[in-house]
Amino acid sequence: ACLDRIEAFDGRVHAFLHVDAEGALRTADEVDRLREEGADLHPLAGVPIALKDNLVTRQMPTTCASKILEGWMPPYSGTVVQRIIDAKLPILGKTNMDEFAMGSSCEYSAFGPTYNPWDLTRAPGGSGGGSAAAVAAFMVPLALGSDTGGSIRQPGAFTGTVGAKPTYGAVSRYGLVAMASSLDQIGPVTRTVRDAAALQELISGHDPHDSTSLPDPVPALLESVKQVSKEGSIEGLRVGVIKQLTGEGYSAGVQHHFDSVVQALKERGCEVVEVDCPSFDYAMAAYYLIMPAEVSSNLARFDGVRYGLRVEPEEGPVTAERVMAATRGAGFGHEVKRRIILGTYVLSSGQVDAYYGSAQKVRTLIKRDFAAAFEKADVLVSPTAPTTAFQLGQRQEDPMAMYLNDVATVPANLAGVPAISVPNGLEDGLPCGFQVIAPEQQDELMYRVAQLVV
Ligand code: GLN
Repeated sequence: ACLDRIEAFDGRVHAFLHVDAEGALRTADEVDRLREEGADLHPLAGVPIALKDNLVTRQMPTTCASKILEGWMPPYSGTVVQRIIDAKLPILGKTNMDEFAMGSSCEYSAFGPTYNPWDLTRAPGGSGGGSAAAVAAFMVPLALGSDTGGSIRQPGAFTGTVGAKPTYGAVSRYGLVAMASSLDQIGPVTRTVRDAAALQELISGHDPHDSTSLPDPVPALLESVKQVSKEGSIEGLRVGVIKQLTGEGYSAGVQHHFDSVVQALKERGCEVVEVDCPSFDYAMAAYYLIMPAEVSSNLARFDGVRYGLRVEPEEGPVTAERVMAATRGAGFGHEVKRRIILGTYVLSSGQVDAYYGSAQKVRTLIKRDFAAAFEKADVLVSPTAPTTAFQLGQRQEDPMAMYLNDVATVPANLAGVPAISVPNGLEDGLPCGFQVIAPEQQDELMYRVAQLVV
C-alpha cells in the first residue's frame, strides 16, 4: 500500500530520492513467513520506514542530497540503520533533505525541493522535509530524521507530523553523516506520539562506535506513553512557558494555537509558569558560529578521493590539491560553501577567541538558563516554529530569513536536552507545531507530556 501511494503521489511531492521496492517487499515477506512460524518479532517488525538520506545504509545510495556524494554506495550501515534492519522494518527508501542537512525548507537539496503535501506551493520545512512529507502524505507510517538545530521538529510543525530530538547521546550517531557533531541527533518522524516513542526506543541505547553515546539503559518509552490517558489527572505538573520563545516574531495564528493548549493545560490542573531564559536571545548567533565551525571540520573529508564525485581541473596539472578544489567547487552547493567558509573563518587564529570562544560561552549560559528554568518547571513549552509553512522560493535567496526559522528549536540542541514537536491545529489550512522540552535524559517525561497535549 505504501509503495502504491509513493507511486501515485511522489511525482508531485518528491519526498524520496531513492525507493527500494524490491528490498522492502523482501523484508515484508520475510516478516510474514517468520510470523507464521511463530517467531518472536519486534513489535515494529513489518512496519515500513523511510530514512533521511544522511543515514548511511549499506547497498543503498546515501547522498545527503549533495552532488558530491552522488553514486556513493556505502559499504556498511550505521548503528541505527542496522537496528532497523535487525528489527525487520522494511526500508522503503531514502528521503530528500537540504544538502548535508543545512537549511529549513528542503530547497537546498541538489536534487530539487520537496513539496509540502498540505499545499504543494509551500515548503515542507527542513532539513528533513522529505521524511516529514512522506509521513504526512501517508506514503510511510514511520521515518527517521536528524536534528542539529531543528531539522526534525520544524518539518514536523510544517507538515502536521510528530518529530522528536532525543537527549544528546541517547541515540548513536555512528553512520549519520556528520553535520555538527556536538549538536546532531537522529530521531523519529511519525504520525502519533506513540509511534515516535516506540521508534525512539528501538534506535536508542549505548554504542561503542560513538564515544558520545550514553551508557544508561533505555527507558520503556512506549509503555509509559501508553499509560497516559486523556482524562487522567495531570494536577501539579509544572509547565514553563519560555518568555523568549513567544510573542514578538511569532505569527498571530501560531501564537493563538499555542495559547489555547496552554490554557487547556491550566484548566486540567497544571501549574503554568512563565520562565525567563535571557541568553536564548543569543542562541541563534551562537548556533551560527558553533555549527559552521564543526561543519567546516566535518566536511573536510569530501576530498574527491574517498567518496563519490571526483572532478579533475579543466587545465593544468592534476595534483591532489587541485582535484580537491575542483571536486569541492563542483560538488558542494552555495549554502554548504557559505557555511564551510564561515566556519573556517571563525576558527582561524586571530578570530577563534572572539567568535568560536564567545559562542561557546553563550552555549554555557544557555545551559544555565535551562537549568534555572527546570527548577521552576518540569517541562518547558513553546511554539515549534514562528510561522506555518512558507511559500517555496520565498526565503531561498535570503539566508537570514531562513536561519530565523530555527529560533525556537536551536536552544535544545545547544543544551543537549530532548524536545518534541506535536501537531497543534491548523491556521489557514496549514499545520502549527507545539514544542515540549524536557530536562536531559527525561525523554520519557517529554513523551508523556506530548501525549497529553495532542
Ligand atoms: N535549519 C537548521 C540549519 O540550517 C537546522 C539544520 C538541522 O537541524 N540539520 O542549520
